[in-house]
Amino acid sequence: MPTPILSKRAAIYADVPDEKWNDWRWQLSHRLNTVDEIEKVIPLTDSERKALQTQGLFRVDVTPYYISLIDPQDPNDPVRKQIIPVSEELNAFTSMMEDSLAEDRHSPVPGLVHRYPDRVLMLVTTQCASYCRYCTRSRIVGDPGQTFNKQEFEMQIEYLKRTPQVRDVLLSGGDPLVLAPKVLEELLTRIREIPHIEIVRIGSRVPVFMPQRITQELCDMLAKFHPLWLNIHVNHPNEISQELADACDRMSRAGIPLGNQSVLLAGVNDCVHLQRELVQKLTRIRVRPYYLYQCDLVEGAGHFRTPVGKGVEIIEGLRGHTSGYAVPQFIVDGPGGGGKIPVMPNYLLSMSDHKIIVRNYEGYVTTYEEPTEYTSHDPKTCKFCQNKRPEPGQSGLTGLLDGEEMFIKPEGFDTLHDRGGIQHRLKDESKWKPRGIGAGDTE
Ligand SMILES: *Cc1c(COP(=O)(O)O)cnc(C)c1O
Repeated sequence: MPTPILSKRAAIYADVPDEKWNDWRWQLSHRLNTVDEIEKVIPLTDSERKALQTQGLFRVDVTPYYISLIDPQDPNDPVRKQIIPVSEELNAFTSMMEDSLAEDRHSPVPGLVHRYPDRVLMLVTTQCASYCRYCTRSRIVGDPGQTFNKQEFEMQIEYLKRTPQVRDVLLSGGDPLVLAPKVLEELLTRIREIPHIEIVRIGSRVPVFMPQRITQELCDMLAKFHPLWLNIHVNHPNEISQELADACDRMSRAGIPLGNQSVLLAGVNDCVHLQRELVQKLTRIRVRPYYLYQCDLVEGAGHFRTPVGKGVEIIEGLRGHTSGYAVPQFIVDGPGGGGKIPVMPNYLLSMSDHKIIVRNYEGYVTTYEEPTEYTSHDPKTCKFCQNKRPEPGQSGLTGLLDGEEMFIKPEGFDTLHDRGGIQHRLKDESKWKPRGIGAGDTE
């Protein structure tokens, strides 16, 4: 396997002793955020200088390690675009929102988003090692005044304790791996004490911004809390340095399965060929591409947005063309709190009562003859069917298929279709009363 390039240090760091450079505390305390500091590393464009001098912009901070990955001569460098602000951040666009995923509305207690039946997202800090310009949580992230406190943490733990349907806790923020080591350990200990929490996950960009943080000591600590999974966030092959490869190797050896979440960003990674190289490089360092996200409708990120079709085109260029392990799912996170929705090319072209017509990645069109006789397993004796976990109000389309519900209706459906005739129909109500779920359902 070709070795990844050992990342260079920007010229101004040439004399920093290795012990300092490799110390994550040094990296954190030497982050750059002003025009003067950043200009010593890369010559700034007018647009960047203007943005850096604008009050009220989303926080800027970048580690010496990460800024060193930038080619200073290239104003379109893909790493640069992710962390150096430009004046386009000030532009508003149609449908722009502060909290496009409605996370605050879906929080039973502050900092805990419970959207899906069996898992929660727990925001444990608002701080990061560096700040992505397209951050979906820029409404809270980076603001030292918004940091979650001990009392809120206790409320989160209490909620988890009294909500046995939660079997998976995803720690995010902010970045959980910038927490003080003791705090992180305490947090994981408290979560692990709850018997119904089966898996813990961490979403972190620390390995990418500051691989020095992924020490053997940290890996040993994390390994005490297995099963623990971790997703990193790499968007471009230039971010895959020897340092990142080593950090991932340490985590993998500690038994932590690694995944990657990317965001599709205009001018950064909106290229099929680049994506193919990215996912192949990720699998070489034992990181499984998990999700590729459509950019959210978040303030300041308008200039990063691509058409959704770009993501479909990328998946078209990956599936079949490279290892299945290397193909992420392309996800549109539904504005208003719809959650993650996979979007992909169509492979099912047509069907009849006994045959389907499908196509492969090459455009080869074939048929699959379906069985004329199918004896299904027996749900009445199947112990999994008998013991399925209830998903109150959230069984969705699988609930319709299961026969649990007959329909899902949009809010206001009944009122709209009564068209004022409710009195007349109330008499017959008992005759036909199918079950269904929907916001407009008053039963
Ligand atoms: C992304 C997310 C999860 C985890 O989703 P998976 O598809 O299981 O990775 C859970 N809760 C919320 C609110 C999320 O945004």
